[in-house]
Amino acid sequence: FRRKQPSANELITRIIKGDKIALSRAITLIESTNIKHLEKANEVIQGCLPYANNSVRIGITGVPGVGKSTFIEAFGKHLTSLGKKVAVLAVDPSSSISHGSILGDKTRMEELVKDENAFIRPSASGDSLGGVARKTREAIILCEACGFDTIIIETVGVGQSETAVHSMVDFFLLLKIAGAGDELQGIKRGIMEMADTIVINKADGDNISKAKLAKTEFNRALHLFPAKKSGWIPKVTTCSAITKEGINDVWKIISDYFDLAKENQYFQNKRQEQNQFWMMETINEQLKTHFYNHPDIISLLEQNKKAVQNNEISPFAAAKILLENYYK
Ligand code: GDP
Repeated sequence: FRRKQPSANELITRIIKGDKIALSRAITLIESTNIKHLEKANEVIQGCLPYANNSVRIGITGVPGVGKSTFIEAFGKHLTSLGKKVAVLAVDPSSSISHGSILGDKTRMEELVKDENAFIRPSASGDSLGGVARKTREAIILCEACGFDTIIIETVGVGQSETAVHSMVDFFLLLKIAGAGDELQGIKRGIMEMADTIVINKADGDNISKAKLAKTEFNRALHLFPAKKSGWIPKVTTCSAITKEGINDVWKIISDYFDLAKENQYFQNKRQEQNQFWMMETINEQLKTHFYNHPDIISLLEQNKKAVQNNEISPFAAAKILLENYYK
């Protein structure tokens, strides 16, 4: 016996009223590979769009083990205690590739899960980072329409997922630990450069002095980067996700950023740019999908790959043949 599925309109009405079950269902539609589900998902997104956008979106990244889920739990609880409604989404393309996610499963954030004013959704799976990122973007819209005013997007600090997350958030937080030997070298320069704040976690017990030292070093390192367009000077701070020491300072830094970026319009401009970026990304994704799934192209591509491999044709000439066949 299958229960009747709610219509797109029903879902929209319920989401706008703050119904988390309807929100979950709609996100499941977004993640489906069934074309009917996707059409319905698009209708729901379109209907929710006028109610979205009223939020702050915070990206959090860090290598496995730095304490992302412990931190998000403590930080999320702090935010709900301030009366905020917090949605946590994850971008973890590894879960589709390796069939085991780096971000782990639902047993994380046990306290936050139970919080009425929080919503936690693990990463969508998909065959590409682009696909996972699109689904997350759409889920953000639905969460906002559902009344969540603080959206946290978690990702692992390995691979390319941070760049995708950076392009969908207003503020980017890099979580680190002291004494991991990577104070200056191991960190990918690009990620440091994207960070609006570096938070050194696990600043408790014997770790406190090491964390303070790391703070000085990161501060020095950040000064080497060019000034940010936002006019914001990235801040370094320490905290303990376990003792909760310093968690409120992290929120203070983030709110200072939003005061500045909203005042100087950077916040609004960046969102507009991001929307255009995602429009272009979607077009690129769909063109590629359409091209590679075209029946003529599938066989022709195989032939030409072999021909290129055997040096019978240049890669450029082969590409030209394929594109001409696609457009004819
Ligand atoms: P993730 O892989 O980045 O999500 O990291 P987890 O949140 O799963 O944390 C990894 C380990 O570090 C766990 O054993 C946590 O209990 C521990 N941990 C996380 N935050 C802190 C902290 O602030 N202080 C200490 N001492 N341990 C922490």
